[in-house]
Amino acid sequence: MEKLKHEIETKGRCIAGDILKVDSILNHQVNCQLMYEIGEMFYERFKDKGITKVVTIETSGICPSFACALKLNVPLIFIKKTKPSTMTNPVFVDAYSFTKQQTYTVCLERDYVNDDDKILFIDDFLANGEAFRACEQLIAQTGGTIEGVGIVIEKRFQKGHDYVVNKGYDLYTLASIDHIQDQKIYWAE
Ligand code: 5GP
Repeated sequence: MEKLKHEIETKGRCIAGDILKVDSILNHQVNCQLMYEIGEMFYERFKDKGITKVVTIETSGICPSFACALKLNVPLIFIKKTKPSTMTNPVFVDAYSFTKQQTYTVCLERDYVNDDDKILFIDDFLANGEAFRACEQLIAQTGGTIEGVGIVIEKRFQKGHDYVVNKGYDLYTLASIDHIQDQKIYWAE
């Protein structure tokens, strides 16, 4: 998605070698128009797959997922990184955070995903695939099926891309980074 790539190139910053800071458009301040257009792109790509729920993980996956779920006219569920006392029937799994470099427990209310649900998973970044793997395990516990994976920014040089593709998921990425060198982004074809 050329507009997204342009925003990343003009407003993003590469830090700590392979971390991309996009706080001004996606991870802190949000470019809502861009999120809306991202949601439309995901909608167009996955609209014929019979999606019944969009699932993401808090926090930064929520905005692009919301826009897509709205267009698909299905509920959005965001997996939580802490267990609220209000959850009655949760499923849990441990995940490792690439950016925070620590393990945390993610959880999902089992009642919101059923074994006949067709899930579109959306997230802001795909790096080593830890967040995706955790969500995949949670969804497996509910019996739902992942029909598609929509990623806003993928860092192809990390392990997540191969994990998702090798497991046979239908992966659609809007901006795919081949590598970062001297703080410059090189896009994958
Ligand atoms: P993974 O679990 O695939 O290793 O990493 C994905 C998660 O880590 C995303 O949900 C995202 O929040 C965060 N993340 C990974 N790489 C980056 C990055 O380069 N920049 C930012 N801002 N977040 C990242």
